[in-house]
Amino acid sequence: MEYRRLGATGLKLSALSYGAWVTFGRQVGRSAARELIALAYDSGVNFFDNAETYNAGEAEKLMGDVIADLRLPRDAYCVSSKVYFGASIDPKPTQRGLSRKHVFDACHQALDRLRVDYLDLYFCHRPDPDTPVLETVWAMDTLVRQGKVLYWGTSEWPATLIEEAHRVARENHLVPPSMEQPQYNLLHRERVENEYASLCADHGMGTTIWSPLASGLLTGKYNDGIPEDSRLGLPANAWLRDELTANDGAKLKTVRALAPIAAELDMPLSRLALAWCLKNPNVSTVILGASRKEQLAENLLALDAMPLLTNDVMSRIKATATM
Ligand code: NDP
Repeated sequence: MEYRRLGATGLKLSALSYGAWVTFGRQVGRSAARELIALAYDSGVNFFDNAETYNAGEAEKLMGDVIADLRLPRDAYCVSSKVYFGASIDPKPTQRGLSRKHVFDACHQALDRLRVDYLDLYFCHRPDPDTPVLETVWAMDTLVRQGKVLYWGTSEWPATLIEEAHRVARENHLVPPSMEQPQYNLLHRERVENEYASLCADHGMGTTIWSPLASGLLTGKYNDGIPEDSRLGLPANAWLRDELTANDGAKLKTVRALAPIAAELDMPLSRLALAWCLKNPNVSTVILGASRKEQLAENLLALDAMPLLTNDVMSRIKATATM
Protein backbone atom coordinates (compact mmCIF):
# COMPACT_ATOMS: atom_id res chain seq x y z
CA MET A 1 0.00 0.00 0.00
CA GLU A 2 1.09 3.54 -0.66
CA TYR A 3 0.30 6.26 1.87
CA ARG A 4 -0.29 9.86 0.83
CA ARG A 5 -0.54 13.02 2.85
CA LEU A 6 -4.02 14.47 2.99
CA GLY A 7 -3.09 17.67 1.16
CA ALA A 8 -0.84 19.84 3.31
CA THR A 9 -1.84 18.09 6.56
CA GLY A 10 0.36 15.58 8.35
CA LEU A 11 -2.27 12.83 8.06
CA LYS A 12 -1.19 9.88 5.92
CA LEU A 13 -4.05 8.04 4.29
CA SER A 14 -3.79 4.87 2.24
CA ALA A 15 -3.96 5.78 -1.46
CA LEU A 16 -6.83 3.28 -1.72
CA SER A 17 -9.56 3.53 0.89
CA TYR A 18 -12.98 1.94 1.28
CA GLY A 19 -16.49 3.41 1.55
CA ALA A 20 -19.96 2.29 2.58
CA TRP A 21 -22.38 4.38 0.46
CA VAL A 22 -25.24 2.34 -1.07
CA THR A 23 -23.69 -1.01 -0.22
CA PHE A 24 -23.51 -1.23 3.61
CA GLY A 25 -26.85 -2.26 5.06
CA ARG A 26 -28.34 -2.77 1.62
CA GLN A 27 -26.22 -5.19 -0.44
CA VAL A 28 -23.72 -5.90 2.32
CA GLY A 29 -24.78 -7.39 5.68
CA ARG A 30 -22.75 -7.92 8.82
CA SER A 31 -20.67 -10.95 7.85
CA ALA A 32 -19.83 -9.62 4.37
CA ALA A 33 -18.98 -6.20 5.84
CA ARG A 34 -16.67 -7.89 8.31
CA GLU A 35 -14.88 -9.78 5.54
CA LEU A 36 -14.59 -6.67 3.36
CA ILE A 37 -13.23 -4.43 6.11
CA ALA A 38 -10.84 -7.14 7.30
CA LEU A 39 -9.52 -7.63 3.77
CA ALA A 40 -9.12 -3.88 3.28
CA TYR A 41 -7.36 -3.36 6.60
CA ASP A 42 -5.09 -6.39 6.14
CA SER A 43 -4.15 -4.98 2.71
CA GLY A 44 -3.07 -1.67 4.25
CA VAL A 45 -6.26 0.38 3.84
CA ASN A 46 -6.43 2.82 6.76
CA PHE A 47 -9.39 5.02 5.84
CA PHE A 48 -13.06 4.01 5.91
CA ASP A 49 -15.59 6.49 4.55
CA ASN A 50 -19.16 6.95 5.71
CA ALA A 51 -21.95 9.52 6.11
CA GLU A 52 -24.99 10.14 8.30
CA THR A 53 -27.26 9.68 5.31
CA TYR A 54 -25.94 6.32 4.07
CA ASN A 55 -28.86 3.96 4.49
CA ALA A 56 -30.25 6.45 7.05
CA GLY A 57 -27.47 5.88 9.59
CA GLU A 58 -27.45 2.08 9.21
CA ALA A 59 -24.20 2.08 7.20
CA GLU A 60 -22.40 3.87 10.05
CA LYS A 61 -23.82 1.45 12.63
CA LEU A 62 -22.71 -1.53 10.58
CA MET A 63 -19.22 -0.14 10.04
CA GLY A 64 -18.90 0.77 13.73
CA ASP A 65 -20.00 -2.70 14.84
CA VAL A 66 -17.66 -4.47 12.44
CA ILE A 67 -14.63 -2.34 13.30
CA ALA A 68 -15.34 -2.97 16.99
CA ASP A 69 -15.72 -6.73 16.30
CA LEU A 70 -12.41 -6.77 14.48
CA ARG A 71 -10.79 -4.84 17.34
CA LEU A 72 -8.90 -2.58 14.94
CA PRO A 73 -6.53 -0.36 16.94
CA ARG A 74 -8.07 3.12 17.00
CA ASP A 75 -4.75 4.80 16.25
CA ALA A 76 -4.19 2.68 13.11
CA TYR A 77 -7.28 3.58 11.08
CA CYS A 78 -9.28 6.67 10.14
CA VAL A 79 -13.02 6.93 9.83
CA SER A 80 -15.18 9.70 8.41
CA SER A 81 -18.72 10.92 8.52
CA LYS A 82 -20.56 13.57 6.53
CA VAL A 83 -23.26 15.98 7.57
CA TYR A 84 -25.98 17.67 5.53
CA PHE A 85 -28.65 15.27 4.27
CA GLY A 86 -29.77 14.01 7.69
CA ALA A 87 -29.96 10.44 8.95
CA SER A 88 -33.65 9.78 8.40
CA ILE A 89 -35.78 9.41 5.31
CA ASP A 90 -37.90 12.46 6.16
CA PRO A 91 -35.71 14.74 8.29
CA LYS A 92 -37.27 17.65 10.22
CA PRO A 93 -35.86 21.15 9.49
CA THR A 94 -33.30 20.95 12.30
CA GLN A 95 -32.23 17.43 11.32
CA ARG A 96 -30.47 18.36 8.11
CA GLY A 97 -28.29 21.15 6.68
CA LEU A 98 -25.16 22.83 7.99
CA SER A 99 -26.54 24.91 10.87
CA ARG A 100 -24.47 24.82 14.05
CA LYS A 101 -27.25 22.74 15.60
CA HIS A 102 -27.32 20.03 12.96
CA VAL A 103 -23.53 19.94 12.56
CA PHE A 104 -23.24 19.29 16.32
CA ASP A 105 -26.12 16.80 16.57
CA ALA A 106 -24.97 14.89 13.49
CA CYS A 107 -21.41 14.68 14.81
CA HIS A 108 -22.54 13.28 18.15
CA GLN A 109 -24.84 10.78 16.44
CA ALA A 110 -22.07 9.66 14.06
CA LEU A 111 -19.71 9.15 17.02
CA ASP A 112 -22.34 6.90 18.64
CA ARG A 113 -23.08 4.92 15.50
CA LEU A 114 -19.43 4.48 14.56
CA ARG A 115 -18.56 3.70 18.21
CA VAL A 116 -15.60 6.10 18.30
CA ASP A 117 -14.61 9.09 20.47
CA TYR A 118 -13.60 11.27 17.54
CA LEU A 119 -14.04 11.43 13.76
CA ASP A 120 -10.78 11.60 11.84
CA LEU A 121 -12.44 13.31 8.90
CA TYR A 122 -15.76 15.15 8.92
CA PHE A 123 -17.27 16.50 5.71
CA CYS A 124 -19.99 19.02 4.89
CA HIS A 125 -21.69 16.72 2.40
CA ARG A 126 -23.09 19.54 0.21
CA PRO A 127 -23.27 23.34 0.48
CA ASP A 128 -26.22 24.68 2.50
CA PRO A 129 -27.64 27.87 0.96
CA ASP A 130 -29.66 28.50 4.17
CA THR A 131 -26.67 28.69 6.53
CA PRO A 132 -23.98 31.39 6.47
CA VAL A 133 -20.58 29.87 5.67
CA LEU A 134 -19.14 31.51 8.80
CA GLU A 135 -21.63 29.63 11.03
CA THR A 136 -20.59 26.28 9.55
CA VAL A 137 -16.86 27.05 9.67
CA TRP A 138 -17.25 28.16 13.30
CA ALA A 139 -19.14 24.97 14.19
CA MET A 140 -16.44 22.81 12.59
CA ASP A 141 -13.71 24.80 14.35
CA THR A 142 -15.44 24.21 17.69
CA LEU A 143 -15.66 20.45 17.06
CA VAL A 144 -11.96 20.38 16.19
CA ARG A 145 -11.08 22.29 19.37
CA GLN A 146 -13.29 19.93 21.41
CA GLY A 147 -11.32 16.97 20.00
CA LYS A 148 -14.40 15.45 18.39
CA VAL A 149 -13.15 16.00 14.84
CA LEU A 150 -9.54 16.02 13.62
CA TYR A 151 -9.86 17.31 10.04
CA TRP A 152 -12.91 18.84 8.44
CA GLY A 153 -13.72 19.34 4.79
CA THR A 154 -16.33 19.78 2.11
CA SER A 155 -17.91 17.54 -0.47
CA GLU A 156 -19.00 18.87 -3.84
CA TRP A 157 -18.87 22.52 -2.83
CA PRO A 158 -18.24 25.04 -5.61
CA ALA A 159 -14.63 26.25 -5.48
CA THR A 160 -15.83 29.81 -4.86
CA LEU A 161 -17.57 28.72 -1.65
CA ILE A 162 -14.54 26.77 -0.48
CA GLU A 163 -12.49 29.95 -1.07
CA GLU A 164 -15.00 31.80 1.09
CA ALA A 165 -14.66 29.20 3.84
CA HIS A 166 -10.89 29.72 3.79
CA ARG A 167 -11.33 33.49 3.88
CA VAL A 168 -13.70 33.52 6.87
CA ALA A 169 -11.51 31.00 8.67
CA ARG A 170 -8.44 33.21 8.11
CA GLU A 171 -10.24 36.39 9.20
CA ASN A 172 -11.59 34.79 12.38
CA HIS A 173 -8.61 32.58 13.28
CA LEU A 174 -10.63 29.42 12.73
CA VAL A 175 -9.53 26.04 11.41
CA PRO A 176 -10.02 26.00 7.62
CA PRO A 177 -11.19 23.00 5.59
CA SER A 178 -8.38 20.52 4.85
CA MET A 179 -9.99 18.41 2.15
CA GLU A 180 -12.74 18.15 -0.44
CA GLN A 181 -14.55 14.96 -1.45
CA PRO A 182 -15.47 15.19 -5.14
CA GLN A 183 -16.60 12.64 -7.67
CA TYR A 184 -13.65 11.83 -9.93
CA ASN A 185 -13.39 9.16 -12.58
CA LEU A 186 -12.70 8.77 -16.29
CA LEU A 187 -16.26 9.88 -17.03
CA HIS A 188 -16.32 12.86 -14.65
CA ARG A 189 -13.16 14.95 -14.66
CA GLU A 190 -13.96 18.64 -15.00
CA ARG A 191 -14.32 19.70 -11.37
CA VAL A 192 -11.18 18.03 -10.03
CA GLU A 193 -8.95 18.85 -12.98
CA ASN A 194 -10.05 22.45 -13.54
CA GLU A 195 -12.26 23.94 -10.83
CA TYR A 196 -10.37 22.51 -7.84
CA ALA A 197 -6.79 22.67 -9.12
CA SER A 198 -6.11 26.04 -7.47
CA LEU A 199 -7.57 24.87 -4.13
CA CYS A 200 -4.92 22.19 -3.94
CA ALA A 201 -2.13 24.54 -5.05
CA ASP A 202 -3.14 27.64 -3.02
CA HIS A 203 -4.69 26.12 0.11
CA GLY A 204 -3.02 22.71 0.29
CA MET A 205 -6.36 20.93 0.22
CA GLY A 206 -6.38 17.18 -0.20
CA THR A 207 -9.03 15.22 -2.06
CA THR A 208 -10.72 11.95 -1.10
CA ILE A 209 -12.35 11.08 -4.40
CA TRP A 210 -15.60 9.12 -4.81
CA SER A 211 -17.11 6.75 -7.38
CA PRO A 212 -13.78 6.05 -9.11
CA LEU A 213 -15.55 3.41 -11.23
CA ALA A 214 -18.68 5.54 -11.81
CA SER A 215 -20.71 3.10 -9.70
CA GLY A 216 -19.32 0.16 -11.68
CA LEU A 217 -19.83 1.53 -15.23
CA LEU A 218 -16.06 1.56 -15.67
CA THR A 219 -15.83 -2.18 -15.08
CA GLY A 220 -17.70 -2.72 -18.37
CA LYS A 221 -20.34 -4.79 -16.52
CA TYR A 222 -23.14 -2.58 -17.90
CA ASN A 223 -22.02 -2.66 -21.54
CA ASP A 224 -24.63 -5.25 -22.52
CA GLY A 225 -27.47 -4.40 -20.15
CA ILE A 226 -28.05 -4.17 -16.41
CA PRO A 227 -27.27 -7.34 -14.41
CA GLU A 228 -29.98 -7.93 -11.79
CA ASP A 229 -27.56 -8.45 -8.93
CA SER A 230 -25.67 -5.21 -9.60
CA ARG A 231 -25.95 -1.77 -8.00
CA LEU A 232 -27.84 -0.32 -10.96
CA GLY A 233 -30.10 -3.39 -11.08
CA LEU A 234 -31.50 -2.69 -7.59
CA PRO A 235 -34.90 -0.92 -7.69
CA ALA A 236 -33.78 1.40 -4.84
CA ASN A 237 -31.01 2.71 -7.12
CA ALA A 238 -33.22 3.42 -10.15
CA TRP A 239 -32.40 7.15 -9.86
CA LEU A 240 -28.71 6.35 -10.18
CA ARG A 241 -29.26 4.02 -13.13
CA ASP A 242 -31.23 6.77 -14.92
CA GLU A 243 -28.52 9.33 -14.20
CA LEU A 244 -25.67 7.14 -15.41
CA THR A 245 -27.39 5.87 -18.55
CA ALA A 246 -28.79 9.30 -19.60
CA ASN A 247 -27.99 11.02 -22.92
CA ASP A 248 -28.51 7.90 -24.93
CA GLY A 249 -25.90 5.98 -22.97
CA ALA A 250 -23.11 8.48 -23.77
CA LYS A 251 -21.05 7.32 -20.79
CA LEU A 252 -21.30 3.68 -21.88
CA LYS A 253 -19.99 4.64 -25.31
CA THR A 254 -16.88 6.06 -23.67
CA VAL A 255 -16.51 2.93 -21.54
CA ARG A 256 -16.61 0.77 -24.67
CA ALA A 257 -14.04 3.01 -26.37
CA LEU A 258 -11.66 2.67 -23.41
CA ALA A 259 -11.86 -1.12 -23.31
CA PRO A 260 -9.22 -1.79 -26.02
CA ILE A 261 -6.60 0.27 -24.13
CA ALA A 262 -7.06 -1.91 -21.05
CA ALA A 263 -7.02 -5.07 -23.19
CA GLU A 264 -3.71 -4.06 -24.76
CA LEU A 265 -2.24 -3.63 -21.28
CA ASP A 266 -3.68 -7.01 -20.31
CA MET A 267 -5.65 -5.66 -17.37
CA PRO A 268 -9.35 -5.30 -16.58
CA LEU A 269 -10.79 -1.90 -17.45
CA SER A 270 -11.64 -1.36 -13.76
CA ARG A 271 -7.96 -1.62 -12.83
CA LEU A 272 -6.97 0.84 -15.54
CA ALA A 273 -9.68 3.26 -14.38
CA LEU A 274 -8.53 3.12 -10.75
CA ALA A 275 -4.84 3.40 -11.64
CA TRP A 276 -5.73 6.44 -13.77
CA CYS A 277 -7.31 8.16 -10.72
CA LEU A 278 -4.24 7.34 -8.62
CA LYS A 279 -1.97 9.02 -11.20
CA ASN A 280 -3.44 12.45 -10.38
CA PRO A 281 -1.10 14.00 -7.76
CA ASN A 282 -3.98 16.05 -6.33
CA VAL A 283 -5.78 12.85 -5.34
CA SER A 284 -4.98 11.97 -1.72
CA THR A 285 -7.03 8.79 -1.65
CA VAL A 286 -9.30 6.91 -4.03
CA ILE A 287 -12.32 5.64 -2.12
CA LEU A 288 -13.18 2.19 -3.42
CA GLY A 289 -16.68 0.79 -3.32
CA ALA A 290 -17.16 -2.97 -3.43
CA SER A 291 -20.08 -5.22 -2.58
CA ARG A 292 -17.99 -8.42 -2.79
CA LYS A 293 -14.62 -9.56 -1.55
CA GLU A 294 -13.44 -10.54 -5.05
CA GLN A 295 -14.14 -7.01 -6.31
CA LEU A 296 -12.19 -5.45 -3.48
CA ALA A 297 -9.27 -7.86 -3.96
CA GLU A 298 -9.17 -6.98 -7.66
CA ASN A 299 -9.44 -3.25 -7.05
CA LEU A 300 -6.58 -3.30 -4.55
CA LEU A 301 -4.29 -4.33 -7.44
CA ALA A 302 -4.68 -0.89 -9.02
CA LEU A 303 -1.57 0.55 -7.38
CA ASP A 304 0.60 -2.10 -9.05
CA ALA A 305 -0.85 -1.12 -12.43
CA MET A 306 0.22 2.53 -12.20
CA PRO A 307 3.65 2.08 -13.87
CA LEU A 308 1.94 0.62 -16.94
CA LEU A 309 0.05 3.87 -17.47
CA THR A 310 2.93 5.59 -19.28
CA ASN A 311 2.68 9.10 -20.70
CA ASP A 312 1.72 7.63 -24.04
CA VAL A 313 -1.06 5.52 -22.49
CA MET A 314 -2.27 8.50 -20.44
CA SER A 315 -2.51 10.61 -23.62
CA ARG A 316 -4.56 7.93 -25.34
CA ILE A 317 -6.85 7.66 -22.34
CA LYS A 318 -7.26 11.43 -22.24
CA ALA A 319 -8.17 11.57 -25.89
CA THR A 320 -10.83 8.89 -25.38
CA ALA A 321 -12.34 9.89 -22.03
CA THR A 322 -14.91 12.65 -21.80
CA MET A 323 -14.73 15.63 -19.49
P1 NDP B 1 -17.30 2.85 -7.41
O1 NDP B 1 -17.54 3.86 -8.46
O2 NDP B 1 -16.01 2.15 -7.44
O3 NDP B 1 -18.50 1.80 -7.48
C1 NDP B 1 -18.50 0.70 -6.63
C2 NDP B 1 -19.43 -0.38 -7.17
O4 NDP B 1 -18.99 -0.84 -8.45
C3 NDP B 1 -19.41 -1.60 -6.29
O5 NDP B 1 -20.27 -1.49 -5.17
C4 NDP B 1 -19.78 -2.70 -7.24
O6 NDP B 1 -21.19 -2.66 -7.44
C5 NDP B 1 -19.08 -2.26 -8.51
N1 NDP B 1 -17.70 -2.78 -8.58
C6 NDP B 1 -16.60 -2.31 -7.91
N2 NDP B 1 -15.52 -3.00 -8.24
C7 NDP B 1 -15.90 -3.93 -9.13
C8 NDP B 1 -15.21 -4.94 -9.84
N3 NDP B 1 -13.89 -5.11 -9.70
N4 NDP B 1 -15.92 -5.73 -10.69
C9 NDP B 1 -17.25 -5.55 -10.86
N5 NDP B 1 -17.97 -4.61 -10.20
C10 NDP B 1 -17.30 -3.80 -9.35
O7 NDP B 1 -17.40 3.49 -5.97
P2 NDP B 1 -18.66 4.08 -5.15
O8 NDP B 1 -19.64 4.71 -6.06
O9 NDP B 1 -19.13 3.02 -4.22
O10 NDP B 1 -17.95 5.23 -4.32
C11 NDP B 1 -16.94 4.88 -3.37
C12 NDP B 1 -17.23 5.56 -2.06
O11 NDP B 1 -17.21 6.97 -2.23
C13 NDP B 1 -18.61 5.30 -1.43
O12 NDP B 1 -18.70 4.05 -0.80
C14 NDP B 1 -18.71 6.45 -0.47
O13 NDP B 1 -17.95 6.19 0.69
C15 NDP B 1 -18.07 7.58 -1.27
N6 NDP B 1 -19.08 8.41 -1.94
C16 NDP B 1 -19.17 9.73 -1.59
C17 NDP B 1 -20.12 10.56 -2.16
C18 NDP B 1 -20.19 11.99 -1.75
O14 NDP B 1 -21.14 12.70 -2.14
N7 NDP B 1 -19.25 12.49 -0.98
C19 NDP B 1 -21.09 10.06 -3.16
C20 NDP B 1 -20.88 8.67 -3.49
C21 NDP B 1 -19.92 7.90 -2.91
P3 NDP B 1 -22.14 -3.94 -7.62
O15 NDP B 1 -21.37 -5.18 -7.38
O16 NDP B 1 -23.21 -3.75 -6.66
O17 NDP B 1 -22.64 -3.84 -9.01
